Amino acid sequence: MQQFDVIICGAGPAGSTCALGLFEAGLNVALLDKQSFPREKICGDAYGGYAYKILNTISPKFGAKLLAINQGAIIKRAKFVSPKKHLVEIRLKGFFSSLPRTVFDNFLLQMVKEETKTTIFENTTAQKIEVQSDSVIVTTQDGTQLKAKMVIGCDGAHSIVQSALTNTREALVETFPGIRSYYKNVKGVEQDCLEIHFLPNIPKGYFWIFPSTDGLTNVGIAANKKMLAKHNINMRKEFHYLMNEAPQFKERFAEAELVGEEKGWSIPIGYFDGKLPISGNRILLCGDAAGLVEPATGEGIAPAMSSGRFAAWQIKKCFKENNFSAEFMKAYDKDIHKKYFRNYYFKTTITNFYYKMPFLMDWVIAFFSGLHKLQGRKY
Ligand SMILES: Cc1cc2nc3c(=O)[nH]c(=O)nc-3n(C[C@H](O)[C@H](O)[C@H](O)COP(=O)(O)OP(=O)(O)OC[C@H]3O[C@@H](n4cnc5c(N)ncnc54)[C@H](O)[C@@H]3O)c2cc1C
Repeated sequence: MQQFDVIICGAGPAGSTCALGLFEAGLNVALLDKQSFPREKICGDAYGGYAYKILNTISPKFGAKLLAINQGAIIKRAKFVSPKKHLVEIRLKGFFSSLPRTVFDNFLLQMVKEETKTTIFENTTAQKIEVQSDSVIVTTQDGTQLKAKMVIGCDGAHSIVQSALTNTREALVETFPGIRSYYKNVKGVEQDCLEIHFLPNIPKGYFWIFPSTDGLTNVGIAANKKMLAKHNINMRKEFHYLMNEAPQFKERFAEAELVGEEKGWSIPIGYFDGKLPISGNRILLCGDAAGLVEPATGEGIAPAMSSGRFAAWQIKKCFKENNFSAEFMKAYDKDIHKKYFRNYYFKTTITNFYYKMPFLMDWVIAFFSGLHKLQGRKY
């Protein structure tokens, strides 16, 4: 049986950042992913400066590489459109990008390959996680067993590592189903500007039109699952209605051509209310596995990377103290709580507020729109 100090399950932003965070720790790390890279990830592909900051704090060299790869996909502005079509445009401070995840996630994993001694297993699915008194055993799809002192669950929205911690994941995680497509020939797309449209038929969610690379546009929709069910809304139908029939979009999509497939995936939001455990005996969870997506915007790349880095810090402490107990792991929970709890609580409250009183969204966007006009802002 192959033996490691740490096994990281999942090589998305959380897993790769965790492996990068361990680059000078002198630990024997395995990183496994069920897919082979570059691989597609269903996403709006938009992420901001915090992703850069995280890599930069691990090593300025990693931060510099991130800036270099993003040339050509830099976003400077975002437009928010209210249900009654009031529009406010904001300037995004610092670095912001819309690089497709196929490229971004592959870039992170390549950096792990180049800059660390991590043993990487692609096309390798973790199927069973067994926590024992002195180790964790990860069994893969072909029955291979890998042994380590700790396992880090970076395996996304349907985490198998999380299931080893509790068997009630579905009850603990609130889900936002999302659909994403790449189109060419969408009219009126500005190459440096994200568009977020809040619409009456997308409760607790939004429709996005984001510029991408190679002349493509990332178009998608995501909304709260419970709300969709409550209002009997078929999200896929709504998505097609918006592009093909809705008066404000139909002309823009008249000549649009779908590139690749229209795909759906879920956004897990569950951390903020503290019901989902994110650590345990010899286990830490990061990113989507920990339900760490930002509840108002659906931004999950930076929280995944940030939790991957926090996990790397915790792993180093565990090996230093030779302590892998659930109690010792609580320091990781504390870090995550401090970083995200208030922020997420506030944003969840605001989102609920808007949902209950949708006219507020119109008022707020109309107010800022008027204010910007008065200030004569030009972007
Ligand atoms: C429709 C949609 C739009 C989104 N838009 C945005 C956006 O614009 N900006 C943003 O910041 N966030 C966005 N998100 C959220 C973002 O995609 C996630 O939060 C982010 O990818 C989380 O990173 P992660 O590393 O935790 O998980 P993932 O990126 O999902 O990576 C998990 C990895 O684990 C692997 N894996 C899974 N199971 C196993 C297993 N059993 N064994 C081995 N490997 C396994 C997978 O192959 C995958 O590579 C969006 C999500 C969706 C669904």
